Amino acid sequence: MRFISANQIFSGKEYLPTNTVLVVSDSGLIEDITTKENVEFSNIEHFEGIICPGFINTHCHLELSHLKNLIKQQTGIIDFGLAVIKHRNEFSAELQQEAMRLADKEMQTQGIVAVGDISNTNESIKIKKESNLYYHTFVELIALNPERANLVFDTGKQLLSEYTKVQLSASLAPHAPYSASLELIKKITDDCFQLNKPTSIHNQESKTENEFFNSKTGDYLRLYETIKISIDYFKATGTSSLQTIISSLNQKVNTLLVHNTFSSKEDIEIAKNVHQQLYWCLCPNANLYIENALPDINLLNSSGCTLTIGTDSLASNSNLSIIDEINTILKHQPNNSLELLLNAATCNGAKFLGIENQFGLLEKNKECGINLIEGKTGNYSVKKLA
Ligand SMILES: [Zn+2]
Repeated sequence: MRFISANQIFSGKEYLPTNTVLVVSDSGLIEDITTKENVEFSNIEHFEGIICPGFINTHCHLELSHLKNLIKQQTGIIDFGLAVIKHRNEFSAELQQEAMRLADKEMQTQGIVAVGDISNTNESIKIKKESNLYYHTFVELIALNPERANLVFDTGKQLLSEYTKVQLSASLAPHAPYSASLELIKKITDDCFQLNKPTSIHNQESKTENEFFNSKTGDYLRLYETIKISIDYFKATGTSSLQTIISSLNQKVNTLLVHNTFSSKEDIEIAKNVHQQLYWCLCPNANLYIENALPDINLLNSSGCTLTIGTDSLASNSNLSIIDEINTILKHQPNNSLELLLNAATCNGAKFLGIENQFGLLEKNKECGINLIEGKTGNYSVKKLA
């Protein structure tokens, strides 16, 4: 049994009184939350720093781990996407498995306890089965052509069953507005509703995504030309990508919008009006890596968006660390509070994934992981205590 106290304890929602002591079993279960008066002084382990629950990484692509340090930075989303397509199958299966195993270990060292992970194949199943981390897999589907919606959906359901038959939590997810038709988005999110599972979609990661929807212009035309896919059927909608797709998402499904780098105030207001179960995921390191831009986190927060944090993949990040994402935000947009970002990285992520019974909050009878955050603003590091 351990009796843990620290300079500050953040529950996942708020700071607890400074005399709080966590009573933690050897296996990491919080057996009680009490105060210093109730514990013999010599038994208390005091830590310099902030204690919080284990982190929830709501957006990762374990499958792309072998692309670390391979793709040039700040080339924009189109050239980044083309480089991923070019390089992702250049490596042996063994090397890819090894890269995923290291990425999984790195997340554990970085105090992450649960991951929302995008998968296009079954390659990550073995790692996920053997890992100590909780994984929810989003089986990601791509088909902008509405005529392909049924076929792609059926193939996706087959891949999904490979995860669920080995008791891994999983559901389908459309890749992005520019790569999934409204028909496919509707089919996928209706399926998530049936299964009572969350979904996820990349959203407004680049300015050119909005140009594509507004006027069918911009760099996405070059993408489809380069990969030789005709998009003759696609019509500009005269509005942003998010406003185009929002009504096609099943509104009773927890839905993660990932990136939101170019979401306007109007986009946010309209989306929130239509859909009340949206979660807005920040992946600042990937945004700087690919587009050298960041979402306006103040705007998202002041508009009442529920924020979460993701690392994205090692193709667009030098590590898989939630505290590093928080450091990046605090460096670039220092008017955001650590409290806001810790809440996003713990409680909100757990709620989104539907795992708040176990994770995201320091509470009696939870085995949610316990992290110690050390250091100064913008330069924090994390140590896993349980
Ligand atoms: Zn992603």
